[in-house]
Amino acid sequence: MQEKAFKFNYSFKNRKNNSSRKKFFGNKKGKGISSNSDIEISRYVRKAMEKTPEKEYIPKNNFFELNINTQLKQNILNRGYIKPTPIQDQAIPVILEGKDLLGIANTGTGKTASFLIPLIEKVLKDKNEKVLIITPTRELALQIVDELKAFSKSLNIYSAICIGGSGLGNQIYTLKGNPNFVIGTPGRLKDLINRRCLALSKFSNVVLDEVDRMLDMGFVREIKHLISLLPAKRQSLFFSATVSKEAENLIGRLLTDPVKISVKSGDTPNNVEQDVVRIKDKSKKIENLHDLLIKEEFKKVLIFGRTKRGVEHLSNTLRERGFKAGSIHGNKSQSNREKVLKLFKTNQLQTLVATDVAARGLDIADITHVINYDPPATYDDYIHRIGRTGRANKTGKALTFVG
Ligand code: AMP
Repeated sequence: MQEKAFKFNYSFKNRKNNSSRKKFFGNKKGKGISSNSDIEISRYVRKAMEKTPEKEYIPKNNFFELNINTQLKQNILNRGYIKPTPIQDQAIPVILEGKDLLGIANTGTGKTASFLIPLIEKVLKDKNEKVLIITPTRELALQIVDELKAFSKSLNIYSAICIGGSGLGNQIYTLKGNPNFVIGTPGRLKDLINRRCLALSKFSNVVLDEVDRMLDMGFVREIKHLISLLPAKRQSLFFSATVSKEAENLIGRLLTDPVKISVKSGDTPNNVEQDVVRIKDKSKKIENLHDLLIKEEFKKVLIFGRTKRGVEHLSNTLRERGFKAGSIHGNKSQSNREKVLKLFKTNQLQTLVATDVAARGLDIADITHVINYDPPATYDDYIHRIGRTGRANKTGKALTFVG
């Protein structure tokens, strides 16, 4: 296995004013265990790291020197991408060469474009090429489709999205159009295969995205089944933030002599400032949240709650208090989830209250704060939650309420 590994840091702006925190935060080096979770409180506290100039990543390639279609380059520019991110800089040439790839990448590293750009180029060269992209969540699949649409503008490339929670009929109809790209979640893909609406034997390009999340969600059997249906001669790309034993097993099944690219930079996103909010009186927890949300800097806030009911209740309470709040959780219909996400993305909501599962894979620009109103069940969930802020070179803040 060839290996290209390196580390990088994203930049951040220093916080100018610390005084607003003092009201809520006790001893910064918090000790002990938070309620409902076995995670040590001290693990919720960390300053964002200064960007060190010598570690700034200088790309070897730029989008315009890549040997790819001119309209595709124009679409990349129109999307506002000037400089490739580290994963893009390294992965795009490798994928263009037709090699298998093992990408170890944190959330927000730009991994979507790193596989979409070369795969679009491949499809442009041969319209018979078909690409299957498997994601853990509906939201991630929708984001990939959005990015694909932006990159493939005026290129006559068609895609189908195959996710649960939305009508089967439409998806079956789109699949009949023989799209080049099929993007879906494991359960719905399996369903469509069983109904003989999708045949994986034609897909000689496959991307498994956020594999660690798929494994967390218990999709291992579905993934193995999907891999077994792919043609033996194929190009396979595998993206995951971490590689567990189970993931290694999948890597062995999927990839052939892959190039490994790692852009992971530590176990917490470097550009997220993390702190705790000590709740002295549990009955005042909502007051503490209210006091934070009225502050000027809390412009776009993602709040995590543990249960669907709790999330719905919190979002209603915030609305009663005059905040522009919405919620996403497993009990909401897909169309409702999409509507709320759009409102949040376009800054028409200040806060979005979510459960862990509903928030997986969300890529929303400019989230200023992630608030863990309820503690995460695992440290892995914590890392995933706080990775929703501090994306694409921006600084973010994560606050965890502890009792
Ligand atoms: P991803 O890791 O693919 O979810 O991307 C994270 C965020 O970075 C998304 O909002 C992308 O639109 C953005 N992004 C990806 N690549 C670039 C780039 N080369 N320049 C600027 N923004 C980018």
